[in-house]
Amino acid sequence: MSDLRIGLVGLGTIARAQHLPAIEATAGMVLTDVASRNAQAEGVANHPDVDALLAAGGVDAVSLCTPPQGRFDQAMSVLRANRHLMLEKPPGATLSELELLAAEAKSRGLTIFATWHSREAAAVDACRDWLAGRTLRRTHIDWSEDVRKWHPGQQWIWQAGGLGVFDPGINALSILTAVLPAPARMVGAELHVPSNCQTPIAADLVMDAGHPVTARLDWRQQGADIWQIRFETDAGTAILSEGGARLTIDGTEIQSGGNREYARLYSRFGDLVARGDSDFDLAPLRLVADAFMNGRIHAAPEFQD
Ligand code: NAP
Repeated sequence: MSDLRIGLVGLGTIARAQHLPAIEATAGMVLTDVASRNAQAEGVANHPDVDALLAAGGVDAVSLCTPPQGRFDQAMSVLRANRHLMLEKPPGATLSELELLAAEAKSRGLTIFATWHSREAAAVDACRDWLAGRTLRRTHIDWSEDVRKWHPGQQWIWQAGGLGVFDPGINALSILTAVLPAPARMVGAELHVPSNCQTPIAADLVMDAGHPVTARLDWRQQGADIWQIRFETDAGTAILSEGGARLTIDGTEIQSGGNREYARLYSRFGDLVARGDSDFDLAPLRLVADAFMNGRIHAAPEFQD
């Protein structure tokens, strides 16, 4: 079988750091085309935008690495050109637009893949398996990092649809919704929004998943990043740390590993296309939408990048 020809759209931070090397390392696929407003990639056909990329006709599938706002039109163009589609997280800016994309892909028999890279971290599967046999008492997420370190100069994260601190926080929610045995419901949220921004810089969340689940998401962290979820159960405490890469039970390391998140995502995308299947779980984004819908806004000091 010939290689799956991939077109990549949006040559920004994550495309360069993760997507390009992961495609290169994945058997059965090849990067043939890139669409970028500002940059060029070596050794591929370069285009100014997704429509030009599609018109050139050289790809079987497109991976969108652009910000969530504006992704809908790009995604719909891909599907209407009868190409398979892989979406960076969050898959879109609204739930209603994503339902339309899912329906379009289904009606055309195309693969649509809403990726959640943190679910592919090294210890997430082990954590889910360990929790499956236990009674959960309390879960707490602490997802704190310095926005100036990870998102310098990114304007879109502060604009409507950019999610603010939920841009990293949705990674925690993607793990949560993958490992908990019961679905979580957003009970309440406190959203701290800088006076010159449309999205929160910090959020405190209260959820219910048959047991209390709380979360502290904070972009004002100084010092080391904290990407950790603590699960207190009837049979010990599991801590999933380092963004899902390390699992300890009552202080003893059970599982840890290096970052193969994007290699696993592209391998899965290839499998989905080969099987004629899709993977389009919107549970993490639904929790974020409910936090915005049900959250209380607190004014925070102006943010200067
Ligand atoms: P970024 O550095 O701002 O890159 C996004 C790229 O999208 C830009 O470089 C630009 O590429 C293109 N683009 C098209 N329309 C745009 C617009 N209106 N505003 C800004 N850029 C536009 O963002 P990123 O960090 O790569 O994030 C992209 C997506 O990946 C987001 O959904 C994010 O949540 C996700 N993600 C990011 C990270 C991370 O660590 N940064 C990790 C995992 C997932 P061209 O100039 O080539 O057109």
